[in-house]
Amino acid sequence: QSQDEPSQATLLRLQHMFEVTGDKLSQISKHMMAEMKKGLASDECAMKMIPTHVVRRPKGDEVGSYLALDLGGSNFRVCEITLDGRGGTRSRQSKHVVTDDLKTGTGAALFDFFADQVKHFLMNDGQNEYSAEEIESRNYKLGFTFSFAVNQVSINKGYLLLWNKGFSADNCVGEDVVRLLSEAFRRKKLNIDVTALVNDTTGTLVSHAYGAPDTYIGVILGTGTNAAYVEKVENITKFKSSGTAKDMIINTEWGAFDDEMVVIPRTKYDHKVDRGTSHPKTYTFEKLISGMYLGEVVRYVLLDLVKTGEIFVAGGSASKTLKIQYAFETAYMSRIERDHSLDLSDVRTVLEDLMHIPSTTLADRRLTRAICEMVGKRSARLSAAAIAGVVTKMNKLDGCTVGIDGSLFELYPHFSNRMRDALHEILGFSADNIVLEQARDGSGQGAALIAALATSIT
Ligand code: ADP
Repeated sequence: QSQDEPSQATLLRLQHMFEVTGDKLSQISKHMMAEMKKGLASDECAMKMIPTHVVRRPKGDEVGSYLALDLGGSNFRVCEITLDGRGGTRSRQSKHVVTDDLKTGTGAALFDFFADQVKHFLMNDGQNEYSAEEIESRNYKLGFTFSFAVNQVSINKGYLLLWNKGFSADNCVGEDVVRLLSEAFRRKKLNIDVTALVNDTTGTLVSHAYGAPDTYIGVILGTGTNAAYVEKVENITKFKSSGTAKDMIINTEWGAFDDEMVVIPRTKYDHKVDRGTSHPKTYTFEKLISGMYLGEVVRYVLLDLVKTGEIFVAGGSASKTLKIQYAFETAYMSRIERDHSLDLSDVRTVLEDLMHIPSTTLADRRLTRAICEMVGKRSARLSAAAIAGVVTKMNKLDGCTVGIDGSLFELYPHFSNRMRDALHEILGFSADNIVLEQARDGSGQGAALIAALATSIT
């Protein structure tokens, strides 16, 4: 074996830990269907299967201007969307980072921050500046995309069940988040009606359906992961329907799939990631898949290999940076997997310049790249197994479109191809009938559309 190659024994051991075979994928997909059915029947399941009260998909003739607020995880967006009545939209938006202080501070500070950003956004539309008085005298309708698990009791009322994705702001769990937002608007003298509370998956589904009517699933693969799909109301046995609607969009909250840990193989690194979060033993599927956690899995593997003397031996040690929680970003994995140079020079940049590893050999860099591939591939394959479960549950194996939003799907190299391969392993030829499509900024537009639909009902 050449000195430039990582040890075969190390590679094989890791591969064995992270591999999810085709058979296993099929099992996972079947388990997903069973858990979906359970969640539709009872509120006591880990996977919440939340009825969204969204019973209509847009026709394309909706008109008017609507605001949308989108809290996804890492970012917070304000959008104004104008529906032209012919299936087209115009929009402008501002994007803000939600700092850790805001995520973990008081609920009032978090919601005041949202209201302030909305006010700024309205006071300057890029062409004109308006005074605070002018803005305060107008009325707006707003759709609120809030991508956490809520017990949704009507189209614009929902109680936060629990935080995830690094949030822990106080006085929010158990509260109606529409009320929290409306009160912040009132404190800031804004006259804004929050007419719809929407999960980003639902927004993605609805907005993708606006342009691609065959869309029956919306998936998020970003900071977190989740999916929404169209279910028959008669199958939602835990839900007492008062209306006549035949279908309703269900927010699966599949991030909590297999929290009982009965079907998906986990590694000791996954358990370490889980223990390091603010909500251990919950949303464990998300921790195997989404952008917030993939880099963290890789970081724990690297630290372990340093300990066993299987990597970074030349430099003598790991680095302080490698020991910092979440320091190894998922975006680094994208960069590493995209590096096809002979000496893996970009992998070197990530390891030596960004992670401050004193020095690396080619074998170290190859091993690091292989680890990223294993962890990235597992994420794509597990996501595909989940989608296969939902499509099969819906009886849509003869054809449907899946709108997928999020940086992981958009930016991680080979992600969609890896999903596609896995779909084939699970579904055979039927996989060809499932179209995976990038949905961009769907959640904002979806919230505006749902706000428009909700306004036209009342
Ligand atoms: P959100 O889900 O918060 O609305 P995004 O869809 O942009 O926002 O997802 C952000 C997540 O995507 C972060 O967790 C980050 O680690 C990850 N990410 C950002 N850039 C990349 C990239 N180039 N490759 C893979 N993941 C990325």
